[in-house]
Amino acid sequence: MESTHYEICIIGGGIVGLSTAYFLAKSGLKVAVLEKDSIGSHASGFAFGGLSPLGEAGDPSSISPVFDLAKLGMAKHHEFSSELPELSGVDYHHRFRPAIDLVFNDEERKEAEQTMKWRQQVDNYKVEWVDTKTALEIVPNLNPEIIGAVYTEGVCDVEPYRLVLALTQSCEKLGVEILNKEITGIQIENHLAKSVSTHQEKIYFDKLVLCMGPWSGNVSDWLGINVPIRPLKGQILRLKSESVELKACAGYQHNYAVTKPDGLIWAGTTEEDIGFQDSPTPYGRNSVLESLTHMIHGLDDAELVYHTACLRPLSIDGKVILGSAPQIDNVFLGTGAGRKGILLGPGMAKITSDLVMNKEPEIDISAFNVTRFS
Ligand SMILES: Cc1cc2nc3c(=O)[nH]c(=O)nc-3n(C[C@H](O)[C@H](O)[C@H](O)COP(=O)(O)OP(=O)(O)OC[C@H]3O[C@@H](n4cnc5c(N)ncnc54)[C@H](O)[C@@H]3O)c2cc1C
Repeated sequence: MESTHYEICIIGGGIVGLSTAYFLAKSGLKVAVLEKDSIGSHASGFAFGGLSPLGEAGDPSSISPVFDLAKLGMAKHHEFSSELPELSGVDYHHRFRPAIDLVFNDEERKEAEQTMKWRQQVDNYKVEWVDTKTALEIVPNLNPEIIGAVYTEGVCDVEPYRLVLALTQSCEKLGVEILNKEITGIQIENHLAKSVSTHQEKIYFDKLVLCMGPWSGNVSDWLGINVPIRPLKGQILRLKSESVELKACAGYQHNYAVTKPDGLIWAGTTEEDIGFQDSPTPYGRNSVLESLTHMIHGLDDAELVYHTACLRPLSIDGKVILGSAPQIDNVFLGTGAGRKGILLGPGMAKITSDLVMNKEPEIDISAFNVTRFS
């Protein structure tokens, strides 16, 4: 039987895998993406879709590797927005919309002021303190008990599932083959990966890229290296309200809500460390509704129209895993983006595609190497 061979084989049809395929195919390489379920059927298709590089807590020196990656991700999203809709015919609603982070007491205000100090130094964003009256002019339905808010311009959002569709169709136009196959192992000879096995066959390649999201832990056995990734479940609600429109994304602690271009209020989220269980639950619904109604008033007419749950890929130290696999010269890893994978995914993909093509990555990625866990 004739064996199948690709220059590049990418495992995982989420945002990291598909964006990597896109960059490599644009450079003329013969690429296949292998996906066990369907494209974008996990976190990449069901995330909230907020793009905010300023979302990290802490001062810039302590977060600089992540912040550099976030800025790269944002830059690649801007490029995508001028390429993918035309190439694919899919409008995925990439747009600028402000964020308004609510502050309820003096302690929260002190923290917010610390973070604002460095955020205000970052080019291309406007970050300012607004008092309660101004905050309520921006979003009239905010809880009036706030003592003020941090208002940010320059941040964006997308509709993640449509983005994944736009990437998929753009990849296919550039000749990428997208195959519905589950990888069950990797064959290695003399420090080189030669093939991956599926339930039916072996697929051969020159280089292998592993972007398996929360399932990336399987790689530990296949490659004999420690890839400590676990799933962190999150749930999102979409609600229809005739009376409330959120023109800025309201945020408080780990929760957020905004009206998206589909006319629905998207609200999240939970953080549930309960393994590979990704069904929507009453707990998730109640928890998101509770935080939403704490932030936003006047939702009495709101009707719940959609409730989703999915799994973030989270590494044991919370940072992404990015770069070459140790001692296996033709394997590359891209995973662990946690709560930020829609933002970071295209940046991770650009770095991975550069490494695959033997180019120097645009930013220092030493903090992200998987050898930190060995
Ligand atoms: C509720 C929620 C809200 C979120 N909101 C945001 C947000 O606002 N902004 C943001 O930036 N990020 C957000 N995220 C995070 C973001 O969704 C994820 O970090 C990102 O989608 C991860 O992308 P990925 O490509 O690494 O993984 P995935 O999307 O999980 O893709 C990995 C793919 O690999 C496939 N796969 C795994 N193993 C195999 C195998 N053996 N063979 C073949 N295929 C395999 C899987 O089926 C899957 O499709 C959110 C996440 C959640 C859960």
